[in-house]
Amino acid sequence: MVSYNFPSQIHLLMITILVIITTLFTPITTNTSSLPWNILSNDNFARKLTTASSSVESAATDFGHITKIFPSAVLNPSSVQDITDLIKLSFDSQSSFPLAARGHGHSHRGQAAANDGVVVNMRSMVNRDRGIKVSRTGLYADVDSAWLWIEVLNKTLELGLTPVSWTDYLHLTVGGTLSNGGISGQTFRYGPQISNVLEMDVITGKGEIATCSKDMNSDLFYAALGGLGQFGIITRARIKLELAPKNAKWLRFLYTDFSEFTRDQERLISETNGLHFLEGSVMLDHGPPDNWRSTYYPPSEHMRIVSMVKQHRVIYCLEVVKYYDETSQHSVNEEMEELSDSLNYERGFVYEKDVTYMDFLNRVRTGELKLKSKGQWDVPHPWLNLFVPKSQISRFEYGVFKGIILRNNITTGPLLVYPMNRNKWNDRMSTVLPEEDVFYAVGFLRSASFDNWDDYEKENMEVLKFCEDANMRVIQYLPYYASQEGWVGHFGTRWNIFLERKYRYDPRMILSPGQNIFP
Ligand code: FAD
Repeated sequence: MVSYNFPSQIHLLMITILVIITTLFTPITTNTSSLPWNILSNDNFARKLTTASSSVESAATDFGHITKIFPSAVLNPSSVQDITDLIKLSFDSQSSFPLAARGHGHSHRGQAAANDGVVVNMRSMVNRDRGIKVSRTGLYADVDSAWLWIEVLNKTLELGLTPVSWTDYLHLTVGGTLSNGGISGQTFRYGPQISNVLEMDVITGKGEIATCSKDMNSDLFYAALGGLGQFGIITRARIKLELAPKNAKWLRFLYTDFSEFTRDQERLISETNGLHFLEGSVMLDHGPPDNWRSTYYPPSEHMRIVSMVKQHRVIYCLEVVKYYDETSQHSVNEEMEELSDSLNYERGFVYEKDVTYMDFLNRVRTGELKLKSKGQWDVPHPWLNLFVPKSQISRFEYGVFKGIILRNNITTGPLLVYPMNRNKWNDRMSTVLPEEDVFYAVGFLRSASFDNWDDYEKENMEVLKFCEDANMRVIQYLPYYASQEGWVGHFGTRWNIFLERKYRYDPRMILSPGQNIFP
């Protein structure tokens, strides 16, 4: 049971006066009316709960730069107890207030926001001296959920170990990606990040902390994995590790024929061929050349690639990686040569790089820094991420890539398309998946401007409508719906399980209101 001390009357009066004075002289952009009267003067929170406009303002926005949702206050917790106390305070209040864990705020649609509630800034929990404990014998790391994956990687590499499943970009928190899924080119082989967690500590919406795993409180464990922050705040995760490789052999193959491209992708993810990573992307004959003229390709090749894109208007890039170290360098070269021979790409359009393991995993950071230097990172990101069943991917390509996208001629930013195996996921987890054994992740990772992001949003709607009209059973990943009706459709037959779990773990509907599931 959690208990917190109420201050004495005099103490309370003094703090209240202090808060009033501070309030009068601090520009505040929000109202705190939905918070219980005693929260700002509560001893437990006095120094950690802020209504300063800079904190509130930064908690109101996210990577998407599409929404601005103001909390009443931001909690900067320094311990798990701080978070437990806050949830308990809300749960026990006559009129509870909403609260949301905010990892690194890399959501794109206000998912980590708490309108008129409290945003819990999880990053304030990071303590460099503790917070990650690696077990060499157990091959796992116990990680505080506020750590970024890049920080986890740096720590585990010190001991020659590494997690096995990644996102493309590593400056995301462990808690944030486990609340969604965490996918990338490793997913076909290792499963998403949520399939590589052994145990977690979770504070439920009742303010109760529980350790959970597949054998202990297993329903909470699976509910919280991909649970969109709805069932509890994850404070610790035990993550599987393996011996870290040193290097990555990184190949790209260009295709003009979509069916050859997908046939090769599907064959490669079904075989035991030792590949550690497989993704794919679409290159379009519009948008700024930077879109695809990535630093990956040698400059001498740019013109040749440009003319192929111009000639076909849409081409495809298969990307594969095999890790290796000094002892396996020779064999990895031979294996990759054999693999190349077996693929049906456009002959002459194969590219190869040898990079360190770290440089490969952290590859998106270079792009981020480049965009930041040009002021193009903190712009609206009307992203759309979908899971498309394998049986529908050709129709999708014809109707969306070659139809809507070419016709509208506005898409910019990476456009990813790669398959994964459903048997690497677990149906008890909360993430919703297509029914088929193989499905594709399709990501429209758009960068827009503050003037035109709406056009992209319209295009997203057009894509979703096309899929719905064609009954393609496409499912949103990192989902966003404006109404509960949308969510009911998203979960389909799993809606009742999701609802039951919500009543079990967060009956007062306190947590992660920014997902807009329980308005
Ligand atoms: P936030 O945006 O802060 O939070 C996301 C949600 O999780 C919110 O609802 C929040 O309340 C909840 N939450 C946060 N922390 C916790 C916690 N500890 N316990 C419970 N709930 C919590 N995703 C992929 O799968 N693969 C990718 O390759 C990938 N690449 C990306 C690249 C970029 C540049 C960006 C911006 C995002 C990318 N994402 C990718 C999406 C990313 O995984 C999600 O947006 C993720 O939620 C962001 O993590 P965050 O730590 O910033 O979480």
